[in-house]
Amino acid sequence: MFKKILIANRGEIALRVQRACREMGIKAVVVYSEADREAKYVKLADEAVCIGPAPSGQSYLSMPAIISAAEVTDAEAIHPGYGFLSENADFAERVEKSGFVFIGPTPESIRLMGDKVSAKQAMIRAGVPTVPGSDGALPDDPTEIKRIARSIGYPVIIKAAGGGGGRGMRVVHTEAALLHAVQTTKSEAAAAFNNPEVYMEKFLQNPRHIEIQVLADQHRNAVYLFERDCSMQRRHQKVIEEAPAPGIPRRLIERIGDRCAAACKKIGYRGAGTFEFLYENGEFYFIEMNTRVQVEHPVTEMITGIDIVRTQILVAAGEKLPFTQRQLQLRGHAIECRINAEDPYKFTPSPGRITAWHAPGGPGVRVDSHIYSGYTVPPHYDSMVGKIIVHGDTREQALARMRGALAEVVIEGIKTNVPLHRELMVDANFEAGGTNIHYLESWLAQRERG
Ligand code: ADP
Repeated sequence: MFKKILIANRGEIALRVQRACREMGIKAVVVYSEADREAKYVKLADEAVCIGPAPSGQSYLSMPAIISAAEVTDAEAIHPGYGFLSENADFAERVEKSGFVFIGPTPESIRLMGDKVSAKQAMIRAGVPTVPGSDGALPDDPTEIKRIARSIGYPVIIKAAGGGGGRGMRVVHTEAALLHAVQTTKSEAAAAFNNPEVYMEKFLQNPRHIEIQVLADQHRNAVYLFERDCSMQRRHQKVIEEAPAPGIPRRLIERIGDRCAAACKKIGYRGAGTFEFLYENGEFYFIEMNTRVQVEHPVTEMITGIDIVRTQILVAAGEKLPFTQRQLQLRGHAIECRINAEDPYKFTPSPGRITAWHAPGGPGVRVDSHIYSGYTVPPHYDSMVGKIIVHGDTREQALARMRGALAEVVIEGIKTNVPLHRELMVDANFEAGGTNIHYLESWLAQRERG
């Protein structure tokens, strides 16, 4: 096993990885920008290296700064967390060329899955169902583009091959709007992702977002850890996640889960990963794969008892998965609320000094957060400051525990979306379960109107 790991990230996930290291008897090196100097996990780390000023381009995204931090501290492996460089194939390659282990898949897997066109084609070859659409990237010929759209049937969605974070997508309802939409998406994609390639898919009207967590080792073993329902989204950003997904027959999950595990074996995948699907009328449609640990991984940990971060480290060190598919059991229900430093009504970011912080607790309550009373949320990064995760024997018990946890939590000095979560946990439709990806936005629009 590794003796020392460098954590190339910040915030709650840096703390999460540090906790896994401590439990495994591995020394953790954290890197930090000048804006994160005062963070408690930085002070608690075995070693900490300042890698640059606040802007992430000069710190958390600086490959040379991170690799030299690993060199000076004699770390053996680098955990990238999520966001920042976690899905950057060039980074994974440079890490390995510099003699460190990248705690994640191979650069080839990251590259294959990072391009949505090649990812989709790989999934089709592996027998994973995808959204009906163009066979690869769209051609230039306008007549051909129109023919493809007609054969898919309107509405269609134009998506950038290099897109991510909910950007680089455009829905088209009529042929009259088609060519203009393709052109605009192409130029935006060229500017934003340095890749003008776009493709076309059927636009599903009212799907749910269901994703399958996988873990694979370097010995061709792969398992799926059931599903998560992440349909509660605002601007394509997940707000609440839960597992299992309410109302989806277990045999459908087993079938798609088996396909995902088989696809991992087929592409030689290693480490943790997530297959994201849209689910509509009993069918799953693959949209993309995330080749890293996800923000919402704790809900899966709560229902399986498997430590996903620990397993990432084990398989990166070359060990076999310590469990088989048959040994995995789904226990109870888990829900996660993402706590963001933002106005709960206008959603404007609300960085600043936290004057009081009281974490909720009790049976089945887990809080993953790096904040504390007196901590200043820097304005430079993502607004998420932590996650409250609850587990119960049933969904009703999990909901009740989340209501209790949200009633207990105190965060003063900054605005957070805790009031939004309190309202959602007593919303009749959310309580009933199975809301689709548009539900939260329409609920917010309704609230706006009063
Ligand atoms: P990103 O990498 O930017 O997150 P995704 O491909 O995962 O992009 O899509 C993000 C979201 O966009 C999905 O969760 C869904 O809400 C919407 N979306 C993407 N493709 C489709 C589609 N074919 N039909 C309907 N909605 C879609």
